[in-house]
Amino acid sequence: MKKLQGFEQIGFKINKEHACAYGVVEGYQFVVNFLPQQRQYTLMATLKTENETGVMTQYLDSLDKGNIINWTIYKDNAVIVNLKNHKELDVYAMQKIMQGIALTATQNGYVQCCRHCGEETTIYPVTVNGNIDLACEKCLAEFTSQQPPIKEVNLPLGIVGALIGSVIGVAVWILIYQLGFVAGITGFIMAVCCFKGYEMLGGRIDKKGVWIAIVIAVVMLAVAEMLCLGIEIHSLYSEYYDISFFDAMSVLPTFLGESEIISAVLGDLAFGYVFMAVASFSYIKNIQKRVNTEGVIERLG
Ligand SMILES: [Zn+2]
Repeated sequence: MKKLQGFEQIGFKINKEHACAYGVVEGYQFVVNFLPQQRQYTLMATLKTENETGVMTQYLDSLDKGNIINWTIYKDNAVIVNLKNHKELDVYAMQKIMQGIALTATQNGYVQCCRHCGEETTIYPVTVNGNIDLACEKCLAEFTSQQPPIKEVNLPLGIVGALIGSVIGVAVWILIYQLGFVAGITGFIMAVCCFKGYEMLGGRIDKKGVWIAIVIAVVMLAVAEMLCLGIEIHSLYSEYYDISFFDAMSVLPTFLGESEIISAVLGDLAFGYVFMAVASFSYIKNIQKRVNTEGVIERLG
């Protein structure tokens, strides 16, 4: 099923920004979290009983772990079911699972509670640093007050880190070029090295860091390609002349004037950039999600 499609039809509210849906099934509050990266959904309810006999776990164990259900657990007052985003999965299949849990809960004396403090009180769907959860008002306030302030990013060091990372990317690009390939994967490696470098020296990656790392990765890929060309010119001419690598680099613009060479270079670069974009897309999306949700603690419904 498409991202959270059809939840309105079972009376749930959808929060697109936090990729979740929530609603009440037979008196129990449920929250469904969509995990696009893993192509999974997890649904959760928070329950407890005075007289735990393991009946909820038994019920969950009895569910068919076939096409739809990956795994289930009942632990620390939370029932969690992890589902594959299979084509057979739709909201009605999820509703059926939630109804089954709710029915088992009612029949066996499980009451709704806050899973954090264990109190039988009103609970709400919440988001805590990107994690979708259920919590009572008191616990939510506690999370907020205990939240450490977000570390300031050291921008100059972050840039230095991204540059150091890019040097690794350049080295990989040159190495693979020497072996006679232009492997698109190096475009991805370049991007990841820049992100990691920024994160390691800058303290963490922020919105600005994402763009800085991308710009550095894009520029340094072109630099790597130029260096490869310089190495090629050098090895070609050093057989006949006494030229240094810097001499080779200085005649580079003349070589790039040749239509044959420039089109080969642009071809290499296009290949690198396409792979950089394609392979980095989900990585960047993931970072941006983290950047957007870091430090956010709020009630969703
Ligand atoms: Zn609580």
